[in-house]
Amino acid sequence: VPDADALAGRFPLTRHEHAASPEQRARALAELRFGVAFTDHMAHARWSPESDWHSHEVIPYGDLSVSPAAAVLHYGQEVFEGIKAYRHADGSVWTFRPRFNAARMALSARRMALPELPEEDLVASLVDLVRADEPWVPSGDGESLYLRPFTFASEPFLGVRAARAVDYYLIASPAGNYFPHGLEPLSIWVSAEFHRAGPGGTGAAKTGGNYASSLLPQQEAQERGCDQVCFLDAATGLNLEELGGMNIMVVDADGTVRTPQLTGTILQGSTRSSIITLLREEGRRVVEETISLESLLAGIESGRVAEVFACGTAAVVVPIGRLAGQGFEVEIAGTEVTRQIHAHLTGIQYGRLPDPHNWMYRL
Ligand code: PMP
Repeated sequence: VPDADALAGRFPLTRHEHAASPEQRARALAELRFGVAFTDHMAHARWSPESDWHSHEVIPYGDLSVSPAAAVLHYGQEVFEGIKAYRHADGSVWTFRPRFNAARMALSARRMALPELPEEDLVASLVDLVRADEPWVPSGDGESLYLRPFTFASEPFLGVRAARAVDYYLIASPAGNYFPHGLEPLSIWVSAEFHRAGPGGTGAAKTGGNYASSLLPQQEAQERGCDQVCFLDAATGLNLEELGGMNIMVVDADGTVRTPQLTGTILQGSTRSSIITLLREEGRRVVEETISLESLLAGIESGRVAEVFACGTAAVVVPIGRLAGQGFEVEIAGTEVTRQIHAHLTGIQYGRLPDPHNWMYRL
């Protein structure tokens, strides 16, 4: 993908307005919460079979006008992504592996019979929106501008088929440090009753329905006093898959790190992939394999498993301190490798450590 200066202007700023006053912006940046405040603008493009992607623009942030018959509202034909922009010490603004997200959104779109937005266009929309709303990128420790690209079926038609009118938007929301008090271990409920995805389903796509179906099990987890739910595979009900919004990794006492392999039912995390690369470079053995719940519980019991952690863009890396489910509850004390990899990855993202893979992209 060309650098940002070469891509800038593909989504021209057609109307420059401030949805929020400078005071409102200052207040939003002073008390950052996740996903509640939005920047002044949004990027937009339209698609139809005749015209392909067209009408790229950056416009003031605001409510959409959507037909009540729009297919997305009835059949959920939608895909999205989650990316962060980080401010470095010199004031410059960078994203982490945006091409990974662009490629994953294309993959999700294909599965959901939506048109694929070209990778360069997705990256260009990040460049143009972040440049328009640059003062919204926070600079505090662990803070970022969360970027949410999404594509949905806007055609007003109640027949069940792939829509012939589709919209792409990119919105942005300043986000605080996920862990203002340091890394706090999560407590996880392993759901035996509900599954997130099945073989041949949409588990590898980042599409709204996967998240809609995770809400009830997530409520169940909270009722059991847990923070998040972990899903088991639907085919056998025996093996770990992932959390509602994060991948999962196991650190053995011998230093090996294990994570469920990509079988088509879990999301291919950018954080997961980056951690695998970094750990291997450190000389660690990392294996992508089937991990049964039974073997994990036995390993925790015997001390063969030292740490379990979750990883994803929002929280980066989080230790899991407790696993509970039907008939079991275990504690996991270790956090050493979890902390190391958290420091390594955030060091790259915030420009404090070298970036030998050129993962960072300057906006
Ligand atoms: N699994 C699911 C279901 C997710 O929603 C996410 C967040 N995108 C992840 C894993 C982690 O992916 P990433 O590291 O790319 O944020």
